[in-house]
Amino acid sequence: AHEGILRRQCARESAARTYARALPIVPVRARGLTIEGADGRRYLDCLSGAGTLALGHNHPVVLEAIRKVLDSGAPLHVLDLATPVKDAFTTELFHTLPPGLADRARIQFCGPAGTDAVEAALKLVRTATGRSGLLSFAGAYHGMTAGALEASGGAQDVRVTRLPYPQDYRCPFGIGGPRGAELAARWTESLLDDTKSGVPQPAGMILEPVQGEGGVIPAPDAWLRRMRAVTEHRSIPLVVDEVQTGVGRTGAFWAVEHSGVVPDVMVLSKAIGGSLPLAVIVYRDDLDVWPPGAHAGTFRGNQLAMAAGAATLSYVRENALAERAATLGARMLDQLRRLSDEFACVGEVRGRGLMIGVELVDPDGAVPAPTAVELDDDPLLAGPAPLPAAPQLAAAVRDACLHRGLIVELGGRHSSVVRLLPPLTITDEQAAAIVDRLADALAAVAR
Ligand code: PMP
Repeated sequence: AHEGILRRQCARESAARTYARALPIVPVRARGLTIEGADGRRYLDCLSGAGTLALGHNHPVVLEAIRKVLDSGAPLHVLDLATPVKDAFTTELFHTLPPGLADRARIQFCGPAGTDAVEAALKLVRTATGRSGLLSFAGAYHGMTAGALEASGGAQDVRVTRLPYPQDYRCPFGIGGPRGAELAARWTESLLDDTKSGVPQPAGMILEPVQGEGGVIPAPDAWLRRMRAVTEHRSIPLVVDEVQTGVGRTGAFWAVEHSGVVPDVMVLSKAIGGSLPLAVIVYRDDLDVWPPGAHAGTFRGNQLAMAAGAATLSYVRENALAERAATLGARMLDQLRRLSDEFACVGEVRGRGLMIGVELVDPDGAVPAPTAVELDDDPLLAGPAPLPAAPQLAAAVRDACLHRGLIVELGGRHSSVVRLLPPLTITDEQAAAIVDRLADALAAVAR
């Protein structure tokens, strides 16, 4: 059955993408960190639905919340009518919001996916400001619909000004290293101040506090505060995409809380639905100027997702799982960093909380000449000369991990970053097993 299911699905599904090709397993049961395949093999799931499963698979409080709705006789589909389930979800969500936003927040249910919420956020700031331009960052990922794609890192769009995201290792702008964040911030500031640059006053700036799909690149808190100051000073709404970083993942309930930055708009999805599809934007009330009917959608009222989401949010809050993610993540980062001493192909280990990336490089590759950049007549020193990315090696590590019962995915511009996104509920022993299996996989394929 296992082989047949895989073969049929890989053959029938679009060539664009199916995880089934990269991860040939057929999950039939799951609990917490563990997935069991149709062939009886068990895996530690560090993909977690691309970071969705804050409480892991089939957490009892989530199942209980879903069952309660199913058994209550409440309607499952009500468009976005007011319901007790929605009321409970919104109350719990508002309870978690950063101070400064919580007391004056509005919510727009979007959905069902993160990309839908990104679209709504872009539409909101464009309506509120009457402007159309957008500031976004190299390496960003915001989704696969037209507006979200336009805001994502690699896309070309005349309305979007692409800014350097601070990245001290292998910075594509050649401004990495310890001063990288400072230089990236000055780059943005001088671009916006330069009336000759041709950058029109934009409708908003959109950023991820940690770039996830972009290769697990945490933005320094000081840089985030600079971006807040830059946008506030120029009345540009700041949209923070916490689709992947939210609900405790990075060691704070929302990743912006590390820096104290209060965004104007937050884009939320993934973990807020407790493993079911749910996406919302929350934003400052004075931006709520779009007319009735400006945003709609049939699937904005998923009762099961709201119930599962409310249960997840309150469980993470009451059990201090963000703090747990911070402690555990720091320990795992520490252990994984020792691997970069052991293996020349481990270029950098980085992350925040339980959002961890291991970037693989080719130690024998040619080192490209660093590019010098000039800003305000100040010649900037390029960051440390990076080694070339090693996407084939990364794919081999992913396969070797799977062979050892560890599910990981790749990210980054070159698909050379092994990403770990385990549930926040993992035990110390499970965290150690993840590190051991990854080390083992590296030892098997690395030179
Ligand atoms: N924003 C971020 C930061 C994401 O990581 C993702 C998904 N990986 C999205 C938006 C898009 O979400 P979805 O895939 O649900 O459309």
